[in-house]
Amino acid sequence: MRAAPRAPVRAFIGIGANLDDPVAQVTTALDELAHLPATRFVAASPLYRTPPMGPPGQPAYVNAVAEVVTTLAPHALLDELQRLEQAHRRVRAERWGPRTLDLDLLLYGDLTLVDERLSIPHPGIACRAFVLLPLAALAPEIHVPGHGCVRELAAAVDSAGISRL
Ligand code: ATP
Ligand code: CA
Ligand code: CA
Repeated sequence: MRAAPRAPVRAFIGIGANLDDPVAQVTTALDELAHLPATRFVAASPLYRTPPMGPPGQPAYVNAVAEVVTTLAPHALLDELQRLEQAHRRVRAERWGPRTLDLDLLLYGDLTLVDERLSIPHPGIACRAFVLLPLAALAPEIHVPGHGCVRELAAAVDSAGISRL
């Protein structure tokens, strides 16, 4: 018997890059997200140039957030995001090290989930200005389960060094 179709869910994807022409990496990733299976692309935030988190000496990042409506299950959506990271030749050398493309599943409706592959909401969402600024530009009214309203979270975070491109 086939599984019942899933209801469409509004999801937000955090995009980051700081290698090999980061603006092009992010712009291409937005186009690729617009072609995900079982998914409708809704909107992209502006792009932001942001200071690196993690090991020092890295180039600045370019960050953005994409809003989609999807009938993919959370893990199937993560599979697609990791497939795109691979297509951008993402290499994982050190934690929070430089990368051609990082795609984080920030929010999946109002779902809260923690397992060995996936934490939703994304654990960094409530304290990272490079996530909250683009997210607030797209959906300031959205509630982050366990943390509160995006507008308020974005207003409270330290956004020093971030500029809109
Ligand atoms: P951070 O997760 O702190 O932003 P990172 O993006 O550099 O760091 P990655 O190396 O890209 O970390 O991912 C490590 C693992 O995180 C992935 O293999 C994935 O299974 C897991 N993960 C857990 N929750 C999420 C999520 N919401 N979105 C994307 N990956 C997630
Ligand atoms: Ca990340
Ligand atoms: Ca990631």
